[in-house]
Amino acid sequence: MAETKAQQECTYCHFHGSAFTEKSLFMKKYGPEEPVKAIGASITKDLDGQLRIDMWVSTSKMGYQNGFQISYCPICGRKLVVDDEN
Ligand SMILES: [Zn+2]
Repeated sequence: MAETKAQQECTYCHFHGSAFTEKSLFMKKYGPEEPVKAIGASITKDLDGQLRIDMWVSTSKMGYQNGFQISYCPICGRKLVVDDEN
């Protein structure tokens, strides 16, 4: 399927950089009285060039981050992986 103009120009899935380069999707900081200090998510380039979504949360006592590989760009919907089955 041909890519749309928006997909060809999407800066969230077309970005240059080495592994672990990331493009922030959002970040929100909270005031010092809040138990959660900040949350955020980004699209990150993996070691093998695959894109994944990383999400993180930070509190005064701990931080947590987790990520998963994605098959489609969450912003423009472009297919990111090539099927090599069949
Ligand atoms: Zn995209």
